[in-house]
Amino acid sequence: MESLKNMYEEFGICDAIYEFGQKTEEKLKARFDAIDKNAEYNQLKVLHAMQKNRVCAEHFSGSTGYGYNDDGRDTLEKVYADTFHTEDALVRPQITCGTHAIALALFSNLRPGDELLSIAGKPYDTLEEVIGIRPSRGSLAEYGVSYAQVDLKEDGSFDFDGIRNAINERTKVVTIQRSKGYQTRPTLSVAKIGEAVAFVKNIRENIICMVDNCYGEFTELSEPTDVGVDMMAGSLIKNPGGGLAPVGGYIVGKKECVENAACRLTSPGLAKEVGASLGILNSFYQGFFLAPTVTAGALKGAIFAANIYEACGFPVVPNGSESRHDIIQAVELGTAEGVIAFCRGIQAAAPVDSYVTPEPWAMPGYDSDVIMAAGAFVQGSSIELSADGPIKPPYAVYFQGGLTWQHAKLGILMSLQKLYDADLVRLPL
Ligand SMILES: *Cc1c(COP(=O)(O)O)cnc(C)c1O
Repeated sequence: MESLKNMYEEFGICDAIYEFGQKTEEKLKARFDAIDKNAEYNQLKVLHAMQKNRVCAEHFSGSTGYGYNDDGRDTLEKVYADTFHTEDALVRPQITCGTHAIALALFSNLRPGDELLSIAGKPYDTLEEVIGIRPSRGSLAEYGVSYAQVDLKEDGSFDFDGIRNAINERTKVVTIQRSKGYQTRPTLSVAKIGEAVAFVKNIRENIICMVDNCYGEFTELSEPTDVGVDMMAGSLIKNPGGGLAPVGGYIVGKKECVENAACRLTSPGLAKEVGASLGILNSFYQGFFLAPTVTAGALKGAIFAANIYEACGFPVVPNGSESRHDIIQAVELGTAEGVIAFCRGIQAAAPVDSYVTPEPWAMPGYDSDVIMAAGAFVQGSSIELSADGPIKPPYAVYFQGGLTWQHAKLGILMSLQKLYDADLVRLPL
């Protein structure tokens, strides 16, 4: 493979790092095969849903104005519902991001006097203002919806006694965040989520169990909706958009839950009947079709990164051999210089904006400077190769995505090269 090595050389990858990468990849063969099998199953699942709903070229044409009788939009929602084995789905460009999808699910299914209970600890940062954990204009708290939280136990498992104690007659929705997001707890497997949902339903059947599925779609054979979850939400610029959806979010689940969400997104009475799809349905369909293999590429990248950096002596979460339930990889580099070098390597590997040098800056909403690397086709897309790290101890960088495994691999090798050039790492050879 002399010519492959020469290509990497063109990117500034030295012999030692190239060889280290090849050896690491060789060792991961069995795991990569398992990921491909998982993608194969999920590919068939999506294809089956598309065929069952007779997806055809007319479905891509889109609508304008009110968007009445938008068959393409309605069929796409059936494809999502069938893929995730739910009664109904809301998949819209008018859902602006993941936070919006989750907020919509919550606001539409909770009423004043109800309580929301998170049983997987503190939710994702942006949801703190949705819930009102941090006082915020328009939060659930302002509408008289209270919030309770049960943290996961030290080992990352559900605190069942705590959950039993926290559930009261006002508990209306129980929410579970599947992915660790930017925390260091483990990501929850679908099986574990299923156990928790069964436990909650056993206490009171009519509690709505909801999952924030961001970053989790297609990482396993099944999804939270296969194990009793009533409602699940996520972002289309993460896994299910397959890198092609330029915007959007989804909610799938029980008919009543989805209908509630539709009434809130548009208007009571109008619900799912309006909402022009404009010209972007093609990318939604095609992105969903590609999502299983795109997610597989991102999973391989995350596992590769874990193994590369673990072998160099850095703490990594998840570790190199753990099973995966999302596409996020954390690497604790231990120094600000390490975080910066890592992000610059990811940036330098990008198809877009590769010549840009990322710098740490004081981003709104963060309590330290943050550095971000992304050279994406879709702004802010995190199914595309991206990394970011707050410039504060323990100096960890969070890495995710890669529309192809080959690109993820280059990004990781370039990050390592930057660390190596700055004398911030010793290779284990
Ligand atoms: C990304 C993410 C969100 C929020 O999604 P945005 O599209 O950034 O608003 C919520 N929860 C988790 C676990 C996420 O990873």
